[in-house]
Amino acid sequence: MDSICDTLDVEFANEISLLLEPLPSSQIREYFDDLLTTRQCGGLSVKHDDERGKGVYAINVFKEGQLILKDQMLVGAQHSSNKMDCLVCSFCFCFIGSIELQIGRKLYFQGLGISSNGKCHSDATDMEDDSYTVSDINLGECSTNNLKNTTPLPKEIVESLINGKLELPASGRFSLPPVVSCPGGCGETYYCSKSCADMDWKSSHSLLCTGEGSMSLCKEAVSEFIEHANDTNDIFLLAAKVISFTILRYKKLKAAHLKEEKNSAPHGLADISFSLLLEAWKPISVGYKRRWWECIALPADVDRCDEVGFRMQIKEMASTSLQLLKAAIFDKEYAPLFSLDIYGHIIGMFELNNLDLVVASPVEDYFLYIDDLPHPQKKEAEAITKPILDAIGDDYSIGCQGTAFFPLQSCMNHSCCPNAKAFKREEDTDGQATIIALQPIQVGEEVTISYIDEELTYEERQMMLADYGFRCKCLKCLEEGHQSNTNLVTAPTT
Ligand SMILES: [Zn+2]
Ligand SMILES: [Zn+2]
Ligand SMILES: [Zn+2]
Repeated sequence: MDSICDTLDVEFANEISLLLEPLPSSQIREYFDDLLTTRQCGGLSVKHDDERGKGVYAINVFKEGQLILKDQMLVGAQHSSNKMDCLVCSFCFCFIGSIELQIGRKLYFQGLGISSNGKCHSDATDMEDDSYTVSDINLGECSTNNLKNTTPLPKEIVESLINGKLELPASGRFSLPPVVSCPGGCGETYYCSKSCADMDWKSSHSLLCTGEGSMSLCKEAVSEFIEHANDTNDIFLLAAKVISFTILRYKKLKAAHLKEEKNSAPHGLADISFSLLLEAWKPISVGYKRRWWECIALPADVDRCDEVGFRMQIKEMASTSLQLLKAAIFDKEYAPLFSLDIYGHIIGMFELNNLDLVVASPVEDYFLYIDDLPHPQKKEAEAITKPILDAIGDDYSIGCQGTAFFPLQSCMNHSCCPNAKAFKREEDTDGQATIIALQPIQVGEEVTISYIDEELTYEERQMMLADYGFRCKCLKCLEEGHQSNTNLVTAPTT
């Protein structure tokens, strides 16, 4: 598998192994203590030992149903295929625009999806004087949604939903933040506020923007990288965000360092540069475990005897993606970040952590609200909303879906009888992870969540958890495992 070997991996072997070296326990503790303080999570602590790895423990009592943790993601991305269903802020992932715009976009893409040649036709009518128009919509992909049971609406109605000329009954009750465009002018990412736009720009988007303001080496190269990710695996988009995030953090640390240096005796910048890169990389270094092509679960349709070839293909795909990313944002100053080994570890981190990004759709809430209206109002409203619902079909309730890395949630260990779960309450309308207690949790008790469907049988559970690289020894598994053993072997009589 080592035939794909990048010259970078050889040239910077030393730096790369330092970046991939596990942090000492004391630094891990310090990092998570800081994080818990900024998250205002007084009730938790992260413990780490070399044998068991990391775990989250209660230092306060939690009642059943109580919020344990709200975890802000380090990086996250909406799945490319989900972008047609939901327009969300690219930084906090809340829905933006209006109920009408959300519905209008969806219907617009459905309309494109049924075009006969199977390719998107971009005859979008430009509707002027609007912050968001159909021509702004990224036509990167076509919807192939199940449209069998839908009744299309006239194009004019879809347009007036998008441009705000048609107002749906009671939609004001579900008002959403206005759409803010990317300051770089890519016309591909949108935000709920200027502050989200600024934070995303500073955190990673400035390097990955395809607009005029892009800080990348070459906008076209960024587009090519994005296109490859959309065609193969959108996990690459997330990996690119991690690399950009690290570069921008590094630049910030370096600027602060240089400012300080002015007031004291200067040191060689070369020595300090790498230690600043290590510091910038720290939030990632607490998360990764294994390389993507080594830890990815073998898909059901791949035969065991083709495993080596499959893993080789995955590695090749990652290598292609990395070459495209290098063409877009490489700089010798932080060259080790662009090694295939580092790229593999970043993607492996997303592969091994069960961290779905989910935000419920206000469009679903809207139609449920209309359905719940008392008799005369309901009939009046439905005269308008029913044809729209019929046009959207069963997909009306699809929420925002993606992948994200939540630093604290990712420290939570699995149990098949967990005492907590990820659960979005009505007020949780953005991409943060929320963890709720399923039962009373005592001081000192470990907080556990289930990575899988815990209703599966013992054998099925162990098989699924093998993909995460461990055998579950929770109470439920110890009991059921013992039972399945005693079924096989005649229990000795005492
Ligand atoms: Zn936002
Ligand atoms: Zn942009
Ligand atoms: Zn278990």
